[in-house]
Amino acid sequence: METNFGYIDENYRRILDGIEEAKAKYRNPSDEITCMAVTKTVAPEAVNHAIGCGIQVLGENRVQEYLSKKALYLPQARMHFIGHLQTNKVKYIIEDMELIHSVDSIRLATEINRHAERVQKVQDILIEVNVGGEASKSGVTPDQLEELLYQVAEMPHIHVKGLMTIPPVEGDEKFLFEMQKLYLDISAKKMDNIDMEILSMGMSGDYVAAIRYGSTLVRIGSALFGARKYV
Ligand SMILES: *Cc1c(COP(=O)(O)O)cnc(C)c1O
Repeated sequence: METNFGYIDENYRRILDGIEEAKAKYRNPSDEITCMAVTKTVAPEAVNHAIGCGIQVLGENRVQEYLSKKALYLPQARMHFIGHLQTNKVKYIIEDMELIHSVDSIRLATEINRHAERVQKVQDILIEVNVGGEASKSGVTPDQLEELLYQVAEMPHIHVKGLMTIPPVEGDEKFLFEMQKLYLDISAKKMDNIDMEILSMGMSGDYVAAIRYGSTLVRIGSALFGARKYV
């Protein structure tokens, strides 16, 4: 069956234009902003089409879904894990992930450190911040962040590269502003073994605003692949 993925080309071009416009307006020309394709529920053929368009990073939410699709993905894509990660599933993904965005507890970090040592890597991670303090969301609250960073900084097989957030849907830009402030504050502290190079913030609905507030990586699902048929 021939499937026409031309809509992905169009969507991707529109997103890149949006990123460029936001950059021109709010950022330095030399700033690099990564556009990740979020693959949940999307057929591997569509994901591969996006890779063909120029997508270099895939965002995976679910361990089971990832394991069932990974052999079908074009091999050049870099894998990031962005979903809630249970400690007992770390072992299935640790070797494949360039970056794990969703670390929000000492328990999860400890497990990642343990498995990273086993497979002889240093795992790059981001700390997920629940900037809106929503009960339904994962992530540490802003006032728990520094404590977790100090603990994770001691782990030899983990390297913190920045922060990730999913701000409240109804939220105005104040949450994006607050994340940028946290990111800059932590950066200014120059903690050992903690780098602030990546601010993973912005999805289909708010990536332009997120870029305004310092995002370096936007995670795009529906604006690239169309509305998800199921969640
Ligand atoms: C689904 C998802 C996205 C992408 O959401 P869209 O609104 O479809 O772009 C980004 N980040 C995370 C963590 C997600 O689960």
